[in-house]
Amino acid sequence: MERKRILLQGELTSPINPKKCCRFAPRCPYASEECFTQEPIMQEILPGHNVACHKAAQFMK
Ligand code: SF4
Repeated sequence: MERKRILLQGELTSPINPKKCCRFAPRCPYASEECFTQEPIMQEILPGHNVACHKAAQFMK
């Protein structure tokens, strides 16, 4: 799988008072409503490869 470099822009989330959301949501170009309201859980998408992203399965297609 080819991966291209993505430069994130936007605000960083506060490490002092983290919200229940994906911490990349303010900076992720793929963020949707659920990314701002639900913290993604860590899941294994390939043997030995874990990610916490609501859209990980979608990106693997
Ligand atoms: S859960 Fe995935 S798609 Fe959503 S903001 Fe985080 S990294 Fe982006």
